[in-house]
Amino acid sequence: MQKQTRVVDFGKRSGLKVHPVSIGGMRLPDEEQAIPLLRQAIDAGMIYIDTSRGYPDSEIKIGKALKNGYREKVILSTKWCPWNLKVEPTDDTSAECTYKRITESMRRLDVECLDFYQLWSINNEEQYHQATQKGGMLDGIFKAMKEGLVKHVGFTTHDTPENISRYIDQADWCEAILFTYNMLDRTYEDVIAKAHEKGIATIVMNPIAGGLFTQDSPPIKNAIKKTLGVDDSVEAAHRWLKTNKNIDTIVCGINKPSDITSTIENYEKPVFTAEQMKHLNAEFAKISKQNTGFCVNCGYCLPCPVGINIPPFMQAAYFSEFLKIDNQAGEMYGWQMNPVNASKSADPCKCAECGKCEQKCTQKIKIIQMLKTLKSKFGQSP
Ligand code: SF4
Ligand code: SF4
Repeated sequence: MQKQTRVVDFGKRSGLKVHPVSIGGMRLPDEEQAIPLLRQAIDAGMIYIDTSRGYPDSEIKIGKALKNGYREKVILSTKWCPWNLKVEPTDDTSAECTYKRITESMRRLDVECLDFYQLWSINNEEQYHQATQKGGMLDGIFKAMKEGLVKHVGFTTHDTPENISRYIDQADWCEAILFTYNMLDRTYEDVIAKAHEKGIATIVMNPIAGGLFTQDSPPIKNAIKKTLGVDDSVEAAHRWLKTNKNIDTIVCGINKPSDITSTIENYEKPVFTAEQMKHLNAEFAKISKQNTGFCVNCGYCLPCPVGINIPPFMQAAYFSEFLKIDNQAGEMYGWQMNPVNASKSADPCKCAECGKCEQKCTQKIKIIQMLKTLKSKFGQSP
């Protein structure tokens, strides 16, 4: 029998309800394990599923898991954009191409319709314009909506809070936004509140900072222990998110059964008091990138003349040099270097040491030296 679970509004605009914990389809295990795992998560109440045409075989695995009556239980969402993934060399931001990618995802998922289709990675104004202009990606989604192939629409973003705030004002079509947000990265706190207030469903990815809170990072452990007297950083991260009433659901990567049970258990625990939140936020502010002089992802160092996408490499440097988590930093470095992933970055070993990035860096980071350190630690390619 399916367990009775708590549900919340998934934004007023969509009219849907979700569990505060949802399924992230980015890093599923192999098919044999993924199918029962996905069904366990759905049975536990995690009914919103976030996937992408760009997560290699995630749509295929999810499609198989949704047989035997599971399709009807879930809110299924996928996404695509040509700047992250050209399925065919001719892929572009046109409505026709987007419609083609929608129907392709439906075939891969083997479903009659998608509950949500999201514009993937609106990361600057140019991309927002390309996606929303007449005859652009959004029109392709609207066409699919008219035909009943897609029910709801939203976008995912790593853009600046200022830009996102403007998009929220303009995008009366938008029913959901997927943001990065966690105890260590509160960049989008105000725009999450604004989206929620406007009735847009707010979805949070990276709730445990891409696995960071599972790692043995002395600065993080100390901040939590000092405030709460507990050692469990993951529990603290989940309860901190649960305390924020502007968040409708978080997407959690699931890799094994205990990922599901422990996350749901954490969400059953009490929210933090205002006093606990105040202390926790003050402790985390001390180790935030802004206050430690590490990369704040502002992008002012770009463009690099040889095409290095500097900010993600500086994120890896923050993990390695400050949080002392080399395995996570190495994973980030490897992900950037892997040509199948979203980055169009050149190999940091190609740095010509021209110094242009350092002149513009708002945090005065020694970027050239950092790239050399990363290279010596993590090698040239995965
Ligand atoms: S110093 Fe290196 S990373 Fe910086 S802009 Fe020049 S080539 Fe690019
Ligand atoms: S300018 Fe500096 S702080 Fe900003 S993204 Fe580039 S490296 Fe990071």
